[in-house]
Amino acid sequence: MYKSGGCNCNAVRFRLLREPVFTHICHCKQCQRSSGGAFNVSTVVLVEDFEFDDCTPDTHHVSGPTGIEYEAWGCDNCGCTIGGKSVAPTELMVVRPGTLDDTTGIEPKAHIWTREKQDWVEIPEGMPAFEENYDPKQVWPQSSLDRLSED
Ligand SMILES: [Zn+2]
Ligand SMILES: [Zn+2]
Repeated sequence: MYKSGGCNCNAVRFRLLREPVFTHICHCKQCQRSSGGAFNVSTVVLVEDFEFDDCTPDTHHVSGPTGIEYEAWGCDNCGCTIGGKSVAPTELMVVRPGTLDDTTGIEPKAHIWTREKQDWVEIPEGMPAFEENYDPKQVWPQSSLDRLSED
């Protein structure tokens, strides 16, 4: 196992079996609303590397900024959002890294949807930043791309 995590009340617990593929920050308006802040930090992991412990997460259906339908998993007791994935079949999903028990080694390497970013958020110099979404092939390290199946 790589890391464990859970919600604030520990009713929902999960395991991340291997290292994430990538971590980015999304500044889109939907992420501002869902976080209640200025952005979401999203850690992309392989679906096969993520397992819930013996618990039943709450599932919400949400639309992303480009209209893709997602299911978001969280805790119906304390209201935390753990992560989610597109409703359509996919090999990748997202974990909110703040829910990991130990966040060591988790660091955002790109910012997306800066078009909708709050003015007071400053993106570090040299950090890849995109007005909307990015093409992972241009941003993710080759070692991460190599973990995806060819399509
Ligand atoms: Zn909870
Ligand atoms: Zn977003």
